[in-house]
Amino acid sequence: MRHSVLIIEDEPRIARWLKVRFEQVGYRAEVAHDGRTGLTLARAGRPDLIVLDLMLPGLDGMQVCRILRRESAVPIIMLTARGTHADRIAGLDCGADDYVVKPFDADEVVARAKAVLRRVGDTVQRVLTLGGITIDETTRRVTVEGRTIELSSAQFALLAAFMRHPHQVLSRERLIGLAFGEDFDAYERAVDNHILRLRKQLGVAGRQPIQTVYGAGYRFVPEQA
Ligand code: CA
Repeated sequence: MRHSVLIIEDEPRIARWLKVRFEQVGYRAEVAHDGRTGLTLARAGRPDLIVLDLMLPGLDGMQVCRILRRESAVPIIMLTARGTHADRIAGLDCGADDYVVKPFDADEVVARAKAVLRRVGDTVQRVLTLGGITIDETTRRVTVEGRTIELSSAQFALLAAFMRHPHQVLSRERLIGLAFGEDFDAYERAVDNHILRLRKQLGVAGRQPIQTVYGAGYRFVPEQA
């Protein structure tokens, strides 16, 4: 499964440049241009890694870092324009895993990202449970109410995408991006077929969390425990 990175950086040129570089080396990359949006995307998308600029409008990088750290163990790499000793210490003190001083080379950020992800390795949360469904992205095991079901890799990727974005209306195009990567050349009809089969598997327990939103796409609504 491809790693996903969330880039929180207010300077569009730098954000764009990092996104392109991460995508070139096989990551899925999303960008937020302010701290508040960054937090929302981090909560909704559960990225494997966050690249966070220190100087942001509104909520600054340090505040965002502290909030994220209270909520998850997601690895965070801070970008800082100031190279002072105090900033470096403070950056790591807020719970960041590493930092890169601007101006930097995009390849340096990617190298740090790989190193951090290697370091956290298996401690990254790979098991998700929602509405009686549990998926383990390491073993690819899926259970519904404790009962194992067999899914194809496409069905698994779609279910993982749904479970990481509950209650959101996802267009077929967005689902393809989330499950298979932006540059994946899939027909939207193929997605419908995969979802049809996925629904049959999930529906055995007498409930159907995947809803059709006519003219828009699909929505995953987990049943409340
Ligand atoms: Ca900035």
